[in-house]
Amino acid sequence: MNKIEHIGIAVKELSMAIPVFEKLLNTACYKTEQVDSEKVRTAFFKTGESKIELLESTEPGGVIGTFIEKKGSGLHHIAFEVTDILAEMKRLKAEGFILLNEEPKHGADNKLVCFLHPKGTQGVLIELCQENV
Ligand code: ZN
Repeated sequence: MNKIEHIGIAVKELSMAIPVFEKLLNTACYKTEQVDSEKVRTAFFKTGESKIELLESTEPGGVIGTFIEKKGSGLHHIAFEVTDILAEMKRLKAEGFILLNEEPKHGADNKLVCFLHPKGTQGVLIELCQENV
């Protein structure tokens, strides 16, 4: 894996969270994007080589809605950039990790993504992402 591409943070309301992270990182949010398939609205910040992705639920039953209901806002996932997502998925599956999707999905920020179940990764939700060129 190449680097930490971004860290995903679940928030209750983007309108409240964006100004906090703009102050914290001393940089403006450069993009917001709704991902209907995941029932989330996202906001991105650049910090050096990596990014912060804030995630707000657009529907109560969505993944972020459910997460916040159980745990409140906070760290949601760590995303690693990979060059060849299919090869990484195959490698990790063979190593016994549990893939949450068998095919790469279209994620936010023009990425192909795959998530690994936290059960196999010490409780941390892991995202693989490859630039969708
Ligand atoms: Zn992400």
